[in-house]
Amino acid sequence: LTLENRYDIDVSLFANEEVPIEPAAVRELQTMLTLQETVEAVHQDAPHRFPDSPRIEQVSLTPDFHKASGIPVGTILETSGFIVPQAIGNDINCGMRLHRTGLSAEQVTAYAEELESACRSMFFEAGRRIPMTWEHREAMLLSGIEGLYDSVDRSFDDGMWSYFHRTSREETLSHIDRRGNLKAARIHGLENLLGEPGRLSRDSQIGSIGGGNHFVEFQRVERIIDGQIAHAWGLSPGMVTVMVHTGSVSVGYACGNFYRGKIRDVHPSGVPHPENVIYVLPLGTDENDTGALFWDAMHNAANFAFANRMFLAMMAWASLEQCLGETSFDLVYDAPHNMIWKEQRKGRETYVHRKGACPARGYEAMADTPFAYYGEPVLVPGSMGASSYILAGNGFAGTNQSAAHGAGRAVSRGASMKGFEREFEKFMQAFRVVTPVDFRRQEISQRRDIMEKKLAELRQEAPFAYKGIGPVIETIHDAGIARPVAELKPIMTVKG
Ligand code: 5GP
Ligand code: MN
Ligand code: MN
Repeated sequence: LTLENRYDIDVSLFANEEVPIEPAAVRELQTMLTLQETVEAVHQDAPHRFPDSPRIEQVSLTPDFHKASGIPVGTILETSGFIVPQAIGNDINCGMRLHRTGLSAEQVTAYAEELESACRSMFFEAGRRIPMTWEHREAMLLSGIEGLYDSVDRSFDDGMWSYFHRTSREETLSHIDRRGNLKAARIHGLENLLGEPGRLSRDSQIGSIGGGNHFVEFQRVERIIDGQIAHAWGLSPGMVTVMVHTGSVSVGYACGNFYRGKIRDVHPSGVPHPENVIYVLPLGTDENDTGALFWDAMHNAANFAFANRMFLAMMAWASLEQCLGETSFDLVYDAPHNMIWKEQRKGRETYVHRKGACPARGYEAMADTPFAYYGEPVLVPGSMGASSYILAGNGFAGTNQSAAHGAGRAVSRGASMKGFEREFEKFMQAFRVVTPVDFRRQEISQRRDIMEKKLAELRQEAPFAYKGIGPVIETIHDAGIARPVAELKPIMTVKG
């Protein structure tokens, strides 16, 4: 595979022989590099909109790198002077959260049946109770989880808030990337989410898993790989953990769509539109420029996503307690894998876009956090039915302090999944999946239309639809990106 690099951009790809790289993904990457041409043309047309001469600083690709729509999943793109909203995907702040519980796998598996019903009602029936006021939502969109700690009174303890009040503010915030608070100067594009001032209402969005690959998973610590770090992070063999994968669901999607239209409108008329329809936004000092508006809207959506993951985790906590009594539920880590981070490079402000890649910073960059000794926790899921891993970041410069965010798909969602019927049947018998549809209920099992639609969706998410996680973890380890700490095996997965 060759890459033509006309602009002399620093590009690197990390994979081993066992990680298949599709030529289509490399072609997509090739086209992506023309961003440099686009941004230079936009700069020449309107230099005053830029703080500096804009350029691509670095491009890196993780081992789960695969083709997407315009920019491959697994791309880390660092720019200066401009941002690329499409380089973080549709689901702003899609990310991963991990909790450890005080329960053992034996305890939980003994109550698997009960847990399954508890989860079904909690996640898909009347269980989700997260009432909020206009003021709470405003604080959440402007300052994320930190905003919620500041604005929600302890006496307000309806539904999931009673769990929220059992958490420690400092413990929680210090275990989330940038303290779960992506400060926004204003609410932009999401005003209709707020409701009415002073009125309490249920939020229809928060606490929803979203479809497809998103999940809430009960897991057990199968194997400790690095005892010292596992001990520091409170992980022991046989312990039950809860992993949450979701993002800003339709809230982020709406923001993304809005900007996709707007970016086209503000593209200078004298500059040809980019062939791959990937647009650039200058990020200068004008706070009403589209770039600055997008920045705030992105932070609003990302703050919502942090809260969404937090509440989903609490719903899992509540489900566990309904079945097994009171237990601890400490946060191990929460970080986005679709997001733009503001960083510094040689005194210059830069923007690190990660599209399907996790931050994996080393201990030095994690000073003033609980991770100042071992580096940033990196959560890499496999698939439902397969292992997931937790690793410790090394701050590896080659990937711009980033790691893979999953195994990556082996069969695209669009592709036919015929021929996997038997494997799927076996998988469904062996594994416990909770979906909004209860397959075991008679009136459901007689509705072929419902059954077939849901089963087809699930089949696209079964382990054989994903690549093996092993070579991905090996590559991360061998390249020096992060050190594996523990392997987690699923007990039960809740799918939206
Ligand atoms: P993405 O963020 O690209 O949507 O997905 C991230 C990764 O999650 C996928 O590449 C896949 O490895 C993993 N994944 C998808 N579904 C599940 C699941 O149900 N459980 C676990 N543990 N991992 C999953
Ligand atoms: Mn997502
Ligand atoms: Mn994701």
